[in-house]
Amino acid sequence: MRVVFLDRDGVINMDRPDYVKNPDEFRFLPGVLDAIRRMAEAHVPVFVVSNQAGVGKGIMSPGQLEAVTRHMLDHIEAAGGRIRHIYYCIHHPDAGCDCRKPRPGLLIQARSDFDVDLRESVVIGDSWRDLETARLVGCRTALVLSGKTAIEEIERWDICPDYIGSDLSEAVDWLLKSSFAYAARADCLIER
Ligand SMILES: [Mg+2]
Ligand SMILES: [Zn+2]
Repeated sequence: MRVVFLDRDGVINMDRPDYVKNPDEFRFLPGVLDAIRRMAEAHVPVFVVSNQAGVGKGIMSPGQLEAVTRHMLDHIEAAGGRIRHIYYCIHHPDAGCDCRKPRPGLLIQARSDFDVDLRESVVIGDSWRDLETARLVGCRTALVLSGKTAIEEIERWDICPDYIGSDLSEAVDWLLKSSFAYAARADCLIER
């Protein structure tokens, strides 16, 4: 199965340095609900893969994260979108787990749970970490500039995204038009 993995903070909702700890702090980015609905209409299976170390650090409880998730899903579903499954890493950054991005544990878990073809799938994220996670398992990548990353930083990276767009809405335009085989920078060779 070919799927789309969305990072959460900076892609779906506004990132914040002190973690999104309750539904009041969760703000959808512009165009996101529509973009997720368009993927549902195109029968693209959508997953969320997100680091939420605020739980492992004791900044929020698992129940608070669950309330934020419920709030997000209620709005997505009311807008006609669908998220197949959400994979969170809730561990402390120092825990040494296999699932905190850029480690690829969440994607590998999705592959075994849903028979995902990772090499035909795409990760849409706002940070270097998302792209590195994708690279480790051979997913294609779309970087959005609605979160952590400024365009000037990308030139210094050793990873080339397959696509760079301003936000999820643009990335979904690309996704639905392309065969995922589009290089955002002419000097990047996509390894398959
Ligand atoms: Mg992010
Ligand atoms: Zn983890």
